[in-house]
Amino acid sequence: MALALSPFTLHPQPSTLAAMSLAVVLVSPKTPGNIGSAARAMLNMGASDLRIVAPRCDHLDPQAVAMAVHAEGLLRSAQIFPTLREALADRDLSVGTSARLRADLPAPRHPALVRPLVREAAAPALVFGPEETGLINSDLEQCQVTVRIPTGDYASLNLAQAVLLVCYEFLQGQDDVPEHSRKVATREEMEAMYGHLQGTMHLIGYTDAVRARHTMRLWRAMLDRALMSSAESRLFRGFLRQVKWKVEQGEGGEGRAEGEE
Ligand code: SAH
Repeated sequence: MALALSPFTLHPQPSTLAAMSLAVVLVSPKTPGNIGSAARAMLNMGASDLRIVAPRCDHLDPQAVAMAVHAEGLLRSAQIFPTLREALADRDLSVGTSARLRADLPAPRHPALVRPLVREAAAPALVFGPEETGLINSDLEQCQVTVRIPTGDYASLNLAQAVLLVCYEFLQGQDDVPEHSRKVATREEMEAMYGHLQGTMHLIGYTDAVRARHTMRLWRAMLDRALMSSAESRLFRGFLRQVKWKVEQGEGGEGRAEGEE
């Protein structure tokens, strides 16, 4: 595919990542310079929505501002969130990033394979982990898919370089895939549905406190693959409400729960 990029222009071309409101989420970054460099990488790639979860340093530290160069404005408009869940609440797709394979989670995919998914999303987020440890499993469980940039044996990229490469991957081929055609449920809606599902599982004895985490991981992976719409998530919750209602009525109960979809 021919990319209409001139090496002489400093201005973004008409169709850039900004058009799809891509958010970059940095989870608990430690080094101001990395945050500034990440902001610069975002500006280079046409993304502008920087979100920082529980930072361990001042994102407006002089070192961050110096590394951001022309991306200082982007740095200043960054939003700070106490938790990843809150940072992702309005997103319809969250893509985790990881330098390594995790034994108990699905294997990360090559970003090129995930590109169509990102291009079809209306409000995607790319999630990056802390410098020393990367994202923890409970962070990755909140992402529908995880990507890994292929590297040599030393797989751990600098945080800002990872931001640059992952954003670049999703900029490629942007004209190949049609714009999003359906509205996918937000993470807030999906998290509420998962909370409801887990409550229902406890109610009917499908899982218990010991097994719940593993059970939910399996169900999340399956249901996240469906890329449900908001209406479908409500449909599913209507079903869960009916299960609860029926259980509370006892075996003999007939009829339908209030407010069922
Ligand atoms: N030591 C950590 C890496 C931390 S690097 C680990 O082994 O996971 C900081 C962040 O940069 C990571 O959390 C991830 O978001 C991103 N990153 C680093 N290398 C990457 C790679 N090869 N592919 C995708 N993301 C990567």
